[in-house]
Amino acid sequence: MSSSWTPWILRARRLALGHPFGREILEFQGRLYEFQGGMERQLLRGERPRRMEAASAAERLQPFVSPLLDLVMKAGPERLSGIVGSRRESLEAGVLQCAPAPGDAVALLIVKSLLQPFARLLESGPEGVEGCTECPSCGGSPVAGVLRDTAEGRPLELVCSLCSRPWRHPRVSCLRCGTTDPRCLSGFTFEEFPHLRLSCCESCRAALKVIDLRREPEAIAEVDDLASIPIDLWAESRGFVRPAFTIPLSLVPPVYGAAPASAVSR
Ligand SMILES: [Zn+2]
Ligand SMILES: [Zn+2]
Repeated sequence: MSSSWTPWILRARRLALGHPFGREILEFQGRLYEFQGGMERQLLRGERPRRMEAASAAERLQPFVSPLLDLVMKAGPERLSGIVGSRRESLEAGVLQCAPAPGDAVALLIVKSLLQPFARLLESGPEGVEGCTECPSCGGSPVAGVLRDTAEGRPLELVCSLCSRPWRHPRVSCLRCGTTDPRCLSGFTFEEFPHLRLSCCESCRAALKVIDLRREPEAIAEVDDLASIPIDLWAESRGFVRPAFTIPLSLVPPVYGAAPASAVSR
């Protein structure tokens, strides 16, 4: 049965075939997208969510916590499923009750997975908003940027890590500290991932993965993010931090560390 998640499921399956190091996590993520598609169908049977409000989201999403933990324990990468198994009871009772601590990667991932289908059903925020660092529709952080050909050129769009909606942001501006000083802003490309680049700020160490849709029209920001985690390991080793990840790096299977990401500065 199709849902707005179907293209994500297909993209995860296709990328899993071409990226042996990422197969385990991409196959799991495909199963997770199927689960989220089912959540979307069930949420659509009730009243459409209007705002990203913690209490109402928690009430609507609580019935999905237990089945999601079941899926993670059955199909998740070893490190993730092991932690979920050891914390099952407390996660089931409390993961939606208060915001996860910034370092609690497992709780962050579970909450994000639950919030995504909810956030996608919210009404879009105001049109034409530019320059925000948070999503105008749901308040989420950007998971990546995309460059898309439009009638006005190739603007940078940030893609929300929760509702997946894009909004525009100046190309030459750090999304954390706002500097436009070219001496602080650098970019790196990677031979192994030709449709991606990493825009970095040397001043505050913020980094943004940017996907060039002209080079790879089928790319989907969140899914392609998973197939290019070696870039994040490269960035992490140099102290760069992204505003949001598809999966927190501490939960990434060790096999990713063996995959190459050789950067060229631009
Ligand atoms: Zn959003
Ligand atoms: Zn900065």
